[in-house]
Amino acid sequence: MKTLAVLHASQLVTLAGGARPRVGREMRELRIIENGGMLVRDEVIVATGTSDDIARAVPADAELIDAAGRVVLPGFVDAHAHPVFAGNRVDEFEMRVLGASYEEIAAAGGGIRSTVRKTRAATEAELEQQALKHLQRFVACGTTTVEAKSGYGLSVEDELKILRVIRSIAARTPLEIVPTFLGAHAVPEEFEGDLQRYAALVINEMLPLVAVEGLAEYCDIFCERGYFDVATARRILEAAKSRGLALRMHVDQLTNSGGAALASELGAATADHLEQTEAEGIAALKRANVQPVLLPGSVYALGKTRYPRARDMIDAGLAVVLATDFNPGSSPTPSIPMVLSLAATQMKMSPAEAVTSATLNAACSLHRGDKIGSLEPGKLANFSIFDCEDYRELAYYFGIPQTHTVYVRGVEVFRA
Ligand SMILES: [Zn+2]
Repeated sequence: MKTLAVLHASQLVTLAGGARPRVGREMRELRIIENGGMLVRDEVIVATGTSDDIARAVPADAELIDAAGRVVLPGFVDAHAHPVFAGNRVDEFEMRVLGASYEEIAAAGGGIRSTVRKTRAATEAELEQQALKHLQRFVACGTTTVEAKSGYGLSVEDELKILRVIRSIAARTPLEIVPTFLGAHAVPEEFEGDLQRYAALVINEMLPLVAVEGLAEYCDIFCERGYFDVATARRILEAAKSRGLALRMHVDQLTNSGGAALASELGAATADHLEQTEAEGIAALKRANVQPVLLPGSVYALGKTRYPRARDMIDAGLAVVLATDFNPGSSPTPSIPMVLSLAATQMKMSPAEAVTSATLNAACSLHRGDKIGSLEPGKLANFSIFDCEDYRELAYYFGIPQTHTVYVRGVEVFRA
C-alpha cells in the first residue's frame, strides 16, 4: 500500500463539508487549514489536518511532498469544454478584432462551419494528437477533470468519430474526461434551412448509436434563436433523456430566448452561458435546482461586455459553476485561473466564491461530488500546488502560470 504525505502547505484549501454543492454565503467558506497537511493512501485522501498533526501520523515508508509554504487546492474541475477539433480560428480572430461582422466572417469561410470542415477531414489519430496537446495545457493550469463535448462533426459518422476520440484520449491522459454528446451544436451546411430534418437525424440516428456504444454521459444542445429553438431542443433532449443521458444546455448566450426555463422544465443538470438571462430565468433555474455554468472566457474573447449576472444568481441561492468553455471560436483558453480572474473583476465574485465554483460545485454538476472537488477523507487525491502563499493570488495575478505541481489519484502528472 502506497502512502503519500503532503506537508507544509501555507493553506490547504479543503472545501470540506460533504458531497453537496455550496450556495449563498457557503460559497465563501473554503475550510482552509493554515500550515496544512494531508495523508493519501493509494489514490484516496485518508486525513487532512495541520502539517504537524499529519507529520506525526506518517508511516516510515511514506513518500513526502513538501509544499514548502505554497497553496494546495483541489484539482480544478472544468465542467464545460470542447477540446476535440481540428485546426484553429486565428484568421477569424484577427478579422473580428479588426471589426469584421459575423456575416463577413461567415462569408470568408469562418465560423463554426470552418471547424466542422476541418474536423470532418481529420483522422481519429490527428484529432487525438491535437486534443492531447490541449489537455496538457489544462493540466498545466491545475485542472484534473475536464468535461469534453463533441459537436464539430454534425454527421452520424463524424459525431461518433469525435466521441470515440474522447474515449480514447481519456485512456491516454492522466485527466479524468467526462464525455458529452453535442450533435445539436449547429445545423450543418448540407441541412441549411431544414432544421427539422437535421433534428430527426440527431434523434433517430445519432442518439441511439451514442447510447448503445455508451459514448456519452450527457447530451447538450445549443438552444438559441436561429439555431435550435425551444420546441426543437425539447424534442431532442427528451429523446436523449429517454436513452439514459443526463442533460446540459447552452442557453441564453446571444438572446434571452427561454432556454433557462426549458432547462428547468427538463430537470437538466446545468444551464450554461446565461449571458442574457434575467430575473425570471434565474427563478426558473432555482425552482428545479439547475446549476448555472458561467463562461466569462467566451465573453472576454469575443470582446463583449455583458457578463452573466453572477451576483444575482448567488443571491438567489444557485450553486454557480465556472468553466472555460475551451473551444477554437469563442474561448480559446484552457486556464481556470484566468477564469477566476474574470469572475472576480468582471462578475464581482469573491476569489473564494470563484474557487468553490471551479472545484466542488463543478464536480457536483458532473455528478462527481462524492469523489472529487474537495480535499477530505474518502475523496480522490486530485490536487494542485500553486506557487503562492494565499489562494486569492490565483485570481489576483493574471496572465502568468502559478502552477507548481499537479497530482491525479496521488500521482504527479505535471511539474513546472
Ligand atoms: Zn460551449
